[in-house]
Amino acid sequence: MPSTVLLLEVPSYDREVLFPALERAMELLPAELAPHAPLLLKPNLLVPATPESAVCTHPAIVAATIEALRDRGFDRLAAGDSPAVHPVAAVARTAGIGEILEKLEVPLVSFADPVAVDNPGARLFRSIPLARSVVERGNLVNLARLKTHGFTRYSGACKNLFGCVPGTTKASLHLRYHRQETFAWMIADLVRYLEPPISVVDGIVAMEGRGPRNGRPRRGNFLLASRDPVAADAVACRLVGIDPRNVLHLRFAAAAGIGRIEPEDIEVLGDDPATLAVPDFEHAPEPPEIGGMLPTFLVPLARRLFHPRAAVDPGLCTRCGDCITICPSGAMLKTAAGLPRPKPRFCIGCRCCEEVCPADAVRIEGPVLSLARRKRSEA
Ligand code: SF4
Ligand code: SF4
Repeated sequence: MPSTVLLLEVPSYDREVLFPALERAMELLPAELAPHAPLLLKPNLLVPATPESAVCTHPAIVAATIEALRDRGFDRLAAGDSPAVHPVAAVARTAGIGEILEKLEVPLVSFADPVAVDNPGARLFRSIPLARSVVERGNLVNLARLKTHGFTRYSGACKNLFGCVPGTTKASLHLRYHRQETFAWMIADLVRYLEPPISVVDGIVAMEGRGPRNGRPRRGNFLLASRDPVAADAVACRLVGIDPRNVLHLRFAAAAGIGRIEPEDIEVLGDDPATLAVPDFEHAPEPPEIGGMLPTFLVPLARRLFHPRAAVDPGLCTRCGDCITICPSGAMLKTAAGLPRPKPRFCIGCRCCEEVCPADAVRIEGPVLSLARRKRSEA
């Protein structure tokens, strides 16, 4: 049976147009979920950023989802996430979600306490450290924002689930699974375990360019919902000109039978994808290809020379220290002047520093470029 994805044209976050869309989306929830089953809303609360920046899930999506769920009898709702560096309450407040949750009396739960769960069918991630509140509450209402991503190319329903891993544990997983292939398998395995009964991808205003933190808001005017987060992401990718087979975690999830990405395996309900495609959507800068046409014996040398590493622009840096806090390998050191300085030997190129930097001061480059930049900034 194909996976079903609901695609709706939604031209604004106004309640009059958004609420009917979320009502239709919540109709996709499996019938076997009793109306009084506890549901845990999982918005994207990456860093403190306003709704206009398109970094976090838009608060109007959270409000309309809560209203639609309550209309269907779901009265045991909570919301949570595990932001990169800052406390969840602070991130939710800046994102406009804290106020909505308070007004609608939905508790914001902590994702701080990790518990290991078994994931026997997994390729890599057979024991997952998940937030206790995720394990105890079970069913997730996955509320993602469509964004580009420097490390995974695309961030949507599947990548949003990485927030179910508590913050400090996320850093150690980045260190352990820092290669793109292993990180992608980890996301696929996480989707396999969590199986959110409903995923929503907000493309009303997406993020293009240097996502997931420093890209530009870009109007897409659509909303997607599905019980298959892989299929929802595949449709979203095609709408913004990304081949989902080039998004490793989607390709691996499809190969493992966790979800569908091929058009013939996905039934799109609602509006016509051809009318909602976003032309000239700017993708994230390509992760450098290591190897390519090189003879095998030169690949290790090429990896040493061209492995992507962080570089900080001192002219943009505000010395907030977030990149130092997030760095999973301890590669980001603090100089006497308070500036972060990446130590190339320890940098694994995971892009966490780039992802959290509020000043867009971090670039991930090959070491040759890093050296050139360092010489420029010292001149
Ligand atoms: S590079 Fe960015 S994250 Fe790091 S200290 Fe400077 S402003 Fe903060
Ligand atoms: S310096 Fe940045 S890219 Fe390098 S390991 Fe640390 S967080 Fe990752």
